[in-house]
Amino acid sequence: MRIDIITIFPEMFESPFNHSIIKRAKDKNLVEIHLHQLRDYSVNKHKHVDDYPFGGGAGMVMMIEPISKCIDSLKAERDYDEIIYTSPDGEVLSQKVANRLTLYNNIILLCGHYKGIDERIREHYITSEISIGDYVLSGGELAACVITDAVIRLLPGVLNDETSALSDSFQDNLLSPPVYTRPYEFNGLKVPDILLSGNDKLINQWKHEQSLQRTQQRRPDLLK
Ligand code: SAH
Repeated sequence: MRIDIITIFPEMFESPFNHSIIKRAKDKNLVEIHLHQLRDYSVNKHKHVDDYPFGGGAGMVMMIEPISKCIDSLKAERDYDEIIYTSPDGEVLSQKVANRLTLYNNIILLCGHYKGIDERIREHYITSEISIGDYVLSGGELAACVITDAVIRLLPGVLNDETSALSDSFQDNLLSPPVYTRPYEFNGLKVPDILLSGNDKLINQWKHEQSLQRTQQRRPDLLK
């Protein structure tokens, strides 16, 4: 999978993309991530990519030309399955959305800033819009990191134990059961005995019951 990210702050991705699972996926060549500095596509000499909004009002708006130039230059190189704009009014990111994105070979993530981007980009270039939740961030960079992480960890071969993504919360509309590790007892606090029984069938049954119970208590909406 190839992910192209258009941003005015490529440096914001350095740390998240060079650690843990994303780094491992890149090292194994399971994903290619390319960052594009939008200012490089600016059409004015000060490298501005924003301007005052027509009709007045607070805040700046990202201009149409640099974004269209950048997207056009990427599209000239390859076909894209989706051109995604990170936006608080987009489809809210979920495990289902992340699973869908894993099916694609090439996607573009466009990070907005200021008051957002010129609407004409959204109408004519963007194929889908994703929000990471009902709150407003200062820019799309953190949202793009979240989307990228959620997708990459689902790509086959990225996680060592492939079943571990399948048993994560939301994968089957259930929350994950509680997990424990050594020591068996800490200051009188013990691990549920069933987990030490060695009986896989009973253990799996217990895990499923715990998942169900947790989902009923915390996120009954998922069971509908
Ligand atoms: N005026 C816009 C918010 C702009 S915030 C509005 O009220 O809808 C600046 C940029 O941050 C946006 O263009 C978008 O790319 C990004 N952003 C903000 N909140 C986000 C969220 N919840 N999910 C994804 N991207 C978000």
